[in-house]
Amino acid sequence: MNQRIYLSPPHMSGHEMKYIQEAFDTNWIAPLGPNVDAFEQELCNYVDIKYGLALSSGTAGIHLVLRYLGVMPGDYVFCSSLTFSGSCNPIMYQYANPVFIDSEPDSWNMSPEALERAFDWANKENKMPKAVIIVDLYGQSADYEKLLPICEYYGVPVIEDAAEALGATYKGRKCGNFGYAGIFSFNGNKIITTSGGGMVVSNDEGAIKKMRFWSTQAKEPVRHYEHKEFGYNYRMSNVCAGIGRGQLMALDKRIAMKKKIYQRYVNDLNSLPVTFMPVQPNNEPNYWLTVMTINEDCKVSPEDIMIALEEENIESRPVWKPMHLQPVFKDYPFFSHLENKSIAEKIFERGLCLPSGSSMSSSEQSKVIEIINIVFSDCR
Ligand SMILES: *Cc1c(COP(=O)(O)O)cnc(C)c1O
Repeated sequence: MNQRIYLSPPHMSGHEMKYIQEAFDTNWIAPLGPNVDAFEQELCNYVDIKYGLALSSGTAGIHLVLRYLGVMPGDYVFCSSLTFSGSCNPIMYQYANPVFIDSEPDSWNMSPEALERAFDWANKENKMPKAVIIVDLYGQSADYEKLLPICEYYGVPVIEDAAEALGATYKGRKCGNFGYAGIFSFNGNKIITTSGGGMVVSNDEGAIKKMRFWSTQAKEPVRHYEHKEFGYNYRMSNVCAGIGRGQLMALDKRIAMKKKIYQRYVNDLNSLPVTFMPVQPNNEPNYWLTVMTINEDCKVSPEDIMIALEEENIESRPVWKPMHLQPVFKDYPFFSHLENKSIAEKIFERGLCLPSGSSMSSSEQSKVIEIINIVFSDCR
């Protein structure tokens, strides 16, 4: 059997061990420490934002921001529907109600039309949300020029879920900058990894300070263990942050490589009845994953391709199943882009994520392309 081709496996730069070694040499294996401080600083410099808080996951970051914004049991929080469940699970941790917002067809990100409709409903029903979680899907920024004024009009703060979009820009500004706070993930499948981890970024020093306090069990600054509030064990370890520092050094190279992979797929598959995730002119994505949909008039299904690739030991995945279709969230409201027509559902039914690892070789990509071509030729 050929060596497996993964969807987006970890890709080490070679600099990680130096920082890990430093942690071991100084016996700084415990959580926190110099790598954590440096990783926060280096990432903030990279995305051009003032304050960062390194955590055990991106999901933990969203949870902390929701609590900071005062989300309480029974409150409402809007969230993109076409995303990974890590975006909206933290709404449940606060016993609040998610309200799911559809995608627009031009970038697959949150639809301004659906957002308007959701706010109209909230206004009438007295269910104004405490926050709006906007996802930058598959490494492409949402359309903030349209989305932010709507949220500002209603005075509702935005959390930018940039878990998939580290290094992507919108009008030249890096993702993570567009909300009251942004979050990143360094899970194993993301563009850079710390084996597991995340970060909250914001220009509000007080907010980051408070979240830092909660993330380390809310210990009051006294010698004995004094707690006036409850907290979490959400911080990143000094060893993991060492991996992150080494990974961050290679981020721009990873983006360039992933862009090449994307461009080759687009180029080599353009005669097939497929459509790639559209890239908007204001955007420079990080090309985390190359994602395409199969045109509706074609009888090839995403599953046909996934099965054919799997037979050759190649991993591919469906597009995220929209949150409003998940059994656990099915009773919560959903607002579609057009009345009675969900774009996210269509993308899910016809979509497929292609192997996009920055370490994938040119001959490996040739093989993926060849298999996809064969599936389509069998079905003509
Ligand atoms: C990966 C991901 C998360 C969660 O990040 P973790 O670090 O795995 O907790 C949240 N939102 C999106 C869009 C993601 O892709």
